Amino acid sequence: RFVKSVDQILKIMNNPEQIRNVGIIAHVDHGKTTTTDSLLAAAGLISPRLAGQLLAMDFLDIEQKRQMTVKAANISLYHEFEGKPYVINLVDTPGHVDFTGKVTRSLRMIDGAIVVVDAVEGVMTQTETVLRQALEERVRPLLFINKVDRLIKELRMSPDDIKQRFIEIIKEVNNLIETYAEPEFKKKWLLDPAQGMVAFGSAKDAIGLTVPLSRKKGVKIDDLIEVYTKGDKEGLEELKKKIPLHEALLDMVVKFVPNPREAQAYRIPKIWRGEINTDIGKAMMSADPDGPVVFFVCDMRWDPHAGFVATGRVFSGTIYNGQELYLINSRVVQRVLQVGIYMGPYREVVDRIPAGNVAAVLGLDQSRAGETVVDVRIKDVMTPFERMRYISEPVVTMAVEPKKTTDLTKLIDALKKMSIEDPNLVVKINEETGEYLISGMGHLHLEIVLTLLKERFGLEVDTTPPTIVYRETAREKSKIFEGKSPNKHNRFYISIEPLNEETIRLIQEGIVSEDMDTHKRARILRDQAGWDYDEARRIWAIDENINVFIDMTSGIQYLREVRDTIIQGFRLAMREGPLAAEPVRGLKVILQDAVIHEDPAHRGPAQIYPAVRNPIFAAMLSSRPTLLEPLQKIEIKFPMDYLGPISSVITKRRGRIINVTHMIGNIVKMLAEMPVAESADLANELRSASAGKAFWGTEFSRWAPVPDSMLLDIVRKIRQRKGLKPEPPSPDEFISL
Ligand code: GDP
Repeated sequence: RFVKSVDQILKIMNNPEQIRNVGIIAHVDHGKTTTTDSLLAAAGLISPRLAGQLLAMDFLDIEQKRQMTVKAANISLYHEFEGKPYVINLVDTPGHVDFTGKVTRSLRMIDGAIVVVDAVEGVMTQTETVLRQALEERVRPLLFINKVDRLIKELRMSPDDIKQRFIEIIKEVNNLIETYAEPEFKKKWLLDPAQGMVAFGSAKDAIGLTVPLSRKKGVKIDDLIEVYTKGDKEGLEELKKKIPLHEALLDMVVKFVPNPREAQAYRIPKIWRGEINTDIGKAMMSADPDGPVVFFVCDMRWDPHAGFVATGRVFSGTIYNGQELYLINSRVVQRVLQVGIYMGPYREVVDRIPAGNVAAVLGLDQSRAGETVVDVRIKDVMTPFERMRYISEPVVTMAVEPKKTTDLTKLIDALKKMSIEDPNLVVKINEETGEYLISGMGHLHLEIVLTLLKERFGLEVDTTPPTIVYRETAREKSKIFEGKSPNKHNRFYISIEPLNEETIRLIQEGIVSEDMDTHKRARILRDQAGWDYDEARRIWAIDENINVFIDMTSGIQYLREVRDTIIQGFRLAMREGPLAAEPVRGLKVILQDAVIHEDPAHRGPAQIYPAVRNPIFAAMLSSRPTLLEPLQKIEIKFPMDYLGPISSVITKRRGRIINVTHMIGNIVKMLAEMPVAESADLANELRSASAGKAFWGTEFSRWAPVPDSMLLDIVRKIRQRKGLKPEPPSPDEFISL
């Protein structure tokens, strides 16, 4: 490890050429933690201030290190390559796809990624999902084939077979690069082992080799194979000294990952929607330390000693203490209380941090992961980084209550902090019952939340059984319905229709959003989703559950004055639909005509809201309404002998088997899709169907209509749970006479 003074590091940080921002991408269990630990142990930066203290607390204690890597949003490493010093920021990129929003945000922080692949298992779905996203964000991939020892110790493969296996894995990754990288990067980014873009080794033993290093060090891959084949302990110790993993990986990073200035020149046009031919655009593309501050927050973490720490990347300008910055999404100005850099996993206070670097900033506690923080001078002209994407959604909900009633305030506070740290955790209070409801992306996600409540905040809670969140939608285009305000002075004529899949995707991925330029949005919708340009131009609102409001009227008096109230009425209606008071999804709401009273006193929210909501609900209920349920993808690995029993567990739960592929030995991998509603107790059933030999992972897949035969039954159950009359309303109930 490297003891360096803060000044020495700042000197390096002032020169983007000596900075690299990278992440590690891996399928669960392929070795991300072990790799990170070994890099931290061998190359982690340490400030002289901490060096003494750390020695005293036995820094190398494995468990402790594990906790640090889990907790640190960023780890900085020091590496010298060809006589020149570099600081490498290793940003935490979660591999678990339950937390996809987090993956996307952290990909924005990094310019290169080390893809870790278990040599035995090869490329798995999570590797593929995250690698695809990385390539879409122009993050350059490099490969580390890990657990080479397993090929020998467990599979007893011959040297030729091992090399063949490497070639296969490289080919698999290159196929993905071929498929998902844009043409201008493909050629340069395809992995060429001869140049050193692929490392082989064992994270557990902290050894690694690339082709150029092999030549430089005079160690061949056959030497490594021989050491493992013979179980040669001394030989292994010698290899650990000769070919340490950090050298192989960090050489690769310095050589092939672009520095922040090079990277921002081609990444900004891709990851930022603003106009690049402006002063702000140019400053970001050149990582100009003298430009206006643009700081993208990737991670918010609660530190009991310091408060909320916002970790992110400085894309332009220089952040310093006392600076006033504007948070675009939260619309507030906050003052920087402290600026820090990471030294290893720890924060060290500094005066200023220039563009291209990762910064840890105190004082921005109104910020959330995904926030764009800027110089106050550009607050009105800056386009924020893409809005959060909604790929994973909170679909499972439960009520929580402290075991000790006196803990209630503490629980509320802890949940608030955790939902700030984890934007995919949604905390709500049920006004009627006073219950606290937490929603997460799956049963597993909520289990983790409960564990953290206990471990971090010492809170024990009682919970209700988890319930599934549904969405409401309509499957046909409706005729036009009339809605009258209670005072009969205002009338709205509204029709609805389902949005097409392509539109839903564009909104979900943030390519189309409410706050973008009208004409740009209309062009995208016309070109990519088959919209009529004129209609697309007339979009008034897009809500967070992917519903669109369009104004097709012309020349209506006073319409402009009530526009905001109409939009608010639309948003409220979409929040609780007519079928079961679940959120509406995927609806196009079209205002066709309107009559509005001239006197503002007669057209307030209490008049406008119901007049907008009622025709929407009547239209939905008359256009084949249905519920959408969350489906999850599940990937299960097990010995072939259990194919029958496992298949029947899946099909019994309305699951669909997508494919079964052979992996290695007699192990097969099944990919299936099934409703989240059917997944309670799935773990136990899979275990008993496979005598405990199955391993699996799940991730959110998509929303799909519930089977028609089950619709009414589910609707009644949800309504009863919410204290509504069990039968859903008929359209007539929303038609005013
Ligand atoms: P993560 O889920 O990707 O963070 O994976 P971990 O780093 O926690 O590793 C998963 C398991 O694989 C752990 O039991 C590690 O000890 C083991 N492991 C990691 N690297 C190696 C390796 O090089 N060889 C072998 N045999 N096991 C390894």
